[in-house]
Amino acid sequence: MTAAPSARGLAAPPEPELDDRVSGSTLYHLAACERRVWLLRHAPGEQAPPGEFDLALMERGRLHEEAVRRRFTGLVGPLWRWGQPLEPAAAETLRLLRESRAPLDQPLLLSADGRRVGVPDFLYWEDGALVVHDAKLAESVDRKPEIALQLTHYARLLEEAGFRVARLEITSGLGEVLDVPRLDDASYDAAIARALELHGAAPEPDLLLAHSTCAECGFYDRCWDRAESEGRIEVLSGVRRNHLPILHGMGIRTIADLAAREPHELEVRGLGRLGPPMVLEARAHRDRRAVWIARPELPAGRPRVWLDLEGDPQDERFGHVIYLWGLGVEETPGAFAAEAILAGPGADGDELGWRRFVERASAVLDEF
Ligand code: SF4
Repeated sequence: MTAAPSARGLAAPPEPELDDRVSGSTLYHLAACERRVWLLRHAPGEQAPPGEFDLALMERGRLHEEAVRRRFTGLVGPLWRWGQPLEPAAAETLRLLRESRAPLDQPLLLSADGRRVGVPDFLYWEDGALVVHDAKLAESVDRKPEIALQLTHYARLLEEAGFRVARLEITSGLGEVLDVPRLDDASYDAAIARALELHGAAPEPDLLLAHSTCAECGFYDRCWDRAESEGRIEVLSGVRRNHLPILHGMGIRTIADLAAREPHELEVRGLGRLGPPMVLEARAHRDRRAVWIARPELPAGRPRVWLDLEGDPQDERFGHVIYLWGLGVEETPGAFAAEAILAGPGADGDELGWRRFVERASAVLDEF
């Protein structure tokens, strides 16, 4: 399915939300953040509109899907488009699956109770069984639980309608056809049960993901404004998700709770040497002032040099892990000069950028 809007760069889901039914899109979001599933259902108006980056990502997804579509011959469809009623498209999909062996474009699959729906990009036949095929911008299916969950969803809907499924696969952003491992039935059933709860009367999950993840989500303002106004410890950069059960177990839920402790009290199993600096960070937030963790071990009276790297982990297409290298020199206090080196386009762009950076950094270090 053509990528649907997603605000602030969170990778585009496979299909739009389809009222309160559990769709591939619901499961996509569930794999990333169950609070997002709840918010999309109960407070959709609080989501920020898609930005330029999201629109560019959606366009890339659309072009990729078009390219995959051209690989099929005799494709029938699209059988469903966004905004059209579901039931006629589901009936036509079933008719074509029963009466022909044609590959299908955007078939619509509906469960018997009507509560689950799925729109795989393509279905085709192989030795009397169906292959579920999606176009994805992802370069691999490793560490992509949302892809396995979506495609398992389509497979289950097909099997419940009486069809055999041969396998699940995607055409990746690199144009490779990759097999997708199928989820076991218990995991799929648990995901569906949780999604239905979140669409129903379940309370909003008390969950906040890492700042870097939330920054790409359309609900960032809602979740983070609320967390900051409540003084939640999750907003501290030194507190990671795996620390939360330990801190909660110590009765620490807010920045004020944490700031009131002595640093040595946080030297506990599971936090180790990361514990004491958390207290100092909490005090800096509470008191709105800098709190020194340690004296910087830089020699006084010497020029200072800053080296900085910026990466784009989402650019799977070219794999440019680093796209910007920065150098800054403060020869005397206040006399700061900075320069930036950008990765060029193409597969060698980051390597060439890195070589220029090493050359410049070496020259700066030689000079000072
Ligand atoms: S901002 Fe973060 S916690 Fe909130 S819905 Fe988005 S990803 Fe989930």
